[in-house]
Amino acid sequence: MEKDIFCKIIDGEIPCYKIYEDQDVLAFLDISQVTKGHVLVVPKEHYETFLSTPQETMHKVMDIAQRIGQVEIKLLGAKGVNILTNCYEAAGQSVPHFHVHVIPRYEKRDGFILEMKDNSKGLNLPQLAEDIKNTL
Ligand code: 5GP
Repeated sequence: MEKDIFCKIIDGEIPCYKIYEDQDVLAFLDISQVTKGHVLVVPKEHYETFLSTPQETMHKVMDIAQRIGQVEIKLLGAKGVNILTNCYEAAGQSVPHFHVHVIPRYEKRDGFILEMKDNSKGLNLPQLAEDIKNTL
């Protein structure tokens, strides 16, 4: 199977601007810099998405994402941070290797747009909640 781009970065075949590295986790600047300081945090072991990553590894990645978010507020003067991970193409994932985006936010129109519409009309919320709860 062809290596994904993050596996190549982890193996040193493609350069990156490293922010953090340990045995299990690597963090580096996203090439697109949606906002200044946009960082990606990835596990060194290959897992396709957040959903298929073992809990211990997922926690290590999230720990580093949290620390980087804190630094972005302190150092870069960000007013907020979006921490997100896209799972599968339908959710916007373009690189099939679990990664967490840490995106500092400076103002509402700073390059990052996340729109959440209210589509609750017509849904049976008690039933929906019950179904999800019973499958957890
Ligand atoms: P996704 O769309 O999968 O959630 O995010 C993938 C991210 O990887 C994008 O924000 C994109 O800019 C970033 N990216 C893609 N290729 C490279 C690369 O070669 N180097 C770095 N540093 N980031 C990359």
